[in-house]
Amino acid sequence: MTAKLILGTEIQKLIFEEIKSEVAQIKEKHGVVPGLVTILVGQNPASISYVTSKIETAHKLGFKEVQDSQPVTITEKELLALIDKYNKDDSINGILVQLPLPKHVDEKKVLNAIDPDKDVDGFHPVNVGRLMIGGSEVKFPPCTPAGIQELIVRSGVDTNGAEVVVVGRSNIVGKPIANMMLQKGKGANSTVTIVHTATKDLASHCKRADVLIVAAGVPGLVKPEWIKPGACVIDVGVNRVGEKISEKTGKKIAILRGDVDFDAAKEIAGSITPVPGGVGPMTIIMLMKNTLKSLKFKLGIA
Ligand code: NAD
Repeated sequence: MTAKLILGTEIQKLIFEEIKSEVAQIKEKHGVVPGLVTILVGQNPASISYVTSKIETAHKLGFKEVQDSQPVTITEKELLALIDKYNKDDSINGILVQLPLPKHVDEKKVLNAIDPDKDVDGFHPVNVGRLMIGGSEVKFPPCTPAGIQELIVRSGVDTNGAEVVVVGRSNIVGKPIANMMLQKGKGANSTVTIVHTATKDLASHCKRADVLIVAAGVPGLVKPEWIKPGACVIDVGVNRVGEKISEKTGKKIAILRGDVDFDAAKEIAGSITPVPGGVGPMTIIMLMKNTLKSLKFKLGIA
């Protein structure tokens, strides 16, 4: 059996068009567009590249986008004042502080200073609490878990009463996606198990999974014999395992592998995400969806 591929590259295009059309409608009816600010401190090349992709996507969707670049010498007090300024700015619906921040700045203090109603990354403790309560309390589900759930829903995987096993317990992927999958509702309502580094027999848990979500950051951790035949496998892992020359650009690019042995797993699973091209492309588009939602909450039309 060869599994159906769940392609984030394709699904994110559909969501892009949905957001774009909704932005145009809101602009016509209410005369406003979603506003997103990204705050970048210093010149870390990876951070510059992430921020640029986010700003470009926001621009293509018709958002107001602000890229606020600050020197690495900015003090914590100045950064907090900047966040306060955007918290009070009516044209800004989403504030994103690109991590990591320099060592002299308390990252937690800065992130917690963002108005929870503009915290489109969904990492503020208030939004973590809202996610835990579930239902209509949820404002901004964190972007990668939200992307995973979209992939599951849009590829027609039935999660109602299903056994979901999540490998990994990080605050950005494992814990939030496990929490989302156990809530009542579409693409959820599952029986959820979280496994991690202290789990005694990883394989036995994975083998029970109708939906196996792997976010460990260990290339090839999940072996094909751990996969239940016909299961849906979501591989969140992005691991750099080497470099190669791109056929398109002639430049050196990273060779990426997931946490699942993809070639063997696709012969057993019912559906599976590839790496790259699965979960990866979903994160930025979900950030845009959260920013649009933030404006809709403000307008009372969410
Ligand atoms: P993390 O390092 O914060 O957490 C990894 C978790 O996996 C930990 O909770 C740990 O207990 C568990 N784990 C590690 N090794 C294990 C093992 N051998 N057995 C069982 N459990 C194990 O990582 P993270 O931030 O959650 O990211 C996980 C992976 O997902 C990484 O490869 C990361 O690059 C990728 N990621 C991708 C996206 C995206 O595609 N947009 C976003 C976030 C993370």
